Amino acid sequence: MYDKLIYEISKGDRIAYSLPSNEIEGFKIADDLRRKTPLDMPEVTELDVVRHYTKLSLKNYGVDQGFYPLGSCTMKYNPKIDEEIASLSGFMNIHPLQSVDTLQGALKIYYETSLLLKELTGMEEFSFNPFAGAHGELVGLMIMKQYHINRGDFKRTKVIVPNSAHGTNPASSSVCGFEVIEVESTDKGTVDIEKLRAVVDDTVAGIMLTNPNTVGIFEKDILEIAKIMHDNGSLLYYDGANLNAVLGTVRPADMGFDIMHINLHKTFSTPHGGGGPGSGPVGVKKELVDLLPNPRVVKNKEGYDFLYSDKSIGSISGFYGNFLVVVRAYCYILSLGKENIANVSKLAVLNANYIKESLKDCYKLPITGLCKHEVVFDGLIEGDASTLEVAKRLLDYGYHPPTIYFPLLFHQSIMIEPTENESRETIDDFIKVMKKIAVEAKETPELLHNAPHNTIVKRLDEVKAARFPIVKYKDLLRTQ
Ligand SMILES: *Cc1c(COP(=O)(O)O)cnc(C)c1O
Repeated sequence: MYDKLIYEISKGDRIAYSLPSNEIEGFKIADDLRRKTPLDMPEVTELDVVRHYTKLSLKNYGVDQGFYPLGSCTMKYNPKIDEEIASLSGFMNIHPLQSVDTLQGALKIYYETSLLLKELTGMEEFSFNPFAGAHGELVGLMIMKQYHINRGDFKRTKVIVPNSAHGTNPASSSVCGFEVIEVESTDKGTVDIEKLRAVVDDTVAGIMLTNPNTVGIFEKDILEIAKIMHDNGSLLYYDGANLNAVLGTVRPADMGFDIMHINLHKTFSTPHGGGGPGSGPVGVKKELVDLLPNPRVVKNKEGYDFLYSDKSIGSISGFYGNFLVVVRAYCYILSLGKENIANVSKLAVLNANYIKESLKDCYKLPITGLCKHEVVFDGLIEGDASTLEVAKRLLDYGYHPPTIYFPLLFHQSIMIEPTENESRETIDDFIKVMKKIAVEAKETPELLHNAPHNTIVKRLDEVKAARFPIVKYKDLLRTQ
């Protein structure tokens, strides 16, 4: 049974809103733009609305409620000061079509955030226009494509992607019209250099990598990989969605990368995963700056302005990306400061290794040795339970499960990313529960087979949910 929907508590004559009065004198909406019939909206009181949405929000799970160790996704705490600053009316109530002289403060934020990202990554210039990580990847690949076209080299139709890559990498390459060449990893989870050499030729536009890779392992041969690619005339793309392991420690440009994106909604702590819009700024080396999307924010003698380049790949988003996300990321970086930003990486790496060492007696550790900001296990060592069942059982103990069945290198992947925020006590409690689940898998496996038991919604039929999603309340009523 479900709670009543807001349409069902609707009662004819109730009202929860009061619209502001028209501030524009003499303005009337043209008759042909007015509705002919009233809009079918729920009619409820303000208290009904508040209770309804508060109830719904309590059924949700977020990082403000508990540990959220979702590997690769960096569900780190979103500091409240960032929200406070982003909700200042000078930021909230501006419009992208205002004249540039009234937008100077906002443009300054874009400009100064770009200085910070440049310093952290070694790139020459950034664009904040992309709306998400995958969008940034597409933009970066469009730049890669245009770079080769501008050199009169039309043969470069392939992009190399290692099989440990995030799923968006091959997807973005395909969307951009490239053929994807997958290279296998070694049993240490890193790029197999000989296999890479074997596929590199003059039809390869570039490679997409992330370092540390999605298994949480640092590609030690990165300089050699960069040399192989550059000697071949190809470019290196860095998937910097998650910079948590390298922030303030290593710079992608110094590793040899030419183009990259960053997810402000992961590394720089802005809310995501249903919690807010994203931002996937793209950074490039000097020779690619002119190709960045239009417009770019620049600083000149009079102040800040938009620059439109003839050589740009064009406009890739309405206006200039998600501004308030940039404001939050700017606050996050400045509140850490140069003194502390490298501690993000150190603590994230320490926390991941602590979990790795604490759980390796119960969960298979396919790659031993130091990991970076995340650790990948390959299911339980003993007992009768799959990775899916471990994840479902974690829900009973009040945790959001880690990422499961990714990376694809292992059959029972459990990928845990604790982030830098969590206390020793939180991590110890999580370890205790993971160990308890390992014991249950041996002694009372049926507890895992039917989990979760304590959640509002029990085990879902995931295939049915994907094939026949119910997205309208009227369809839900029909199923009751
Ligand atoms: C999250 C992630 C992406 C995609 O970012 P979105 O904002 O979800 O599009 C790409 N690569 C890696 C490594 C990621 O973790």
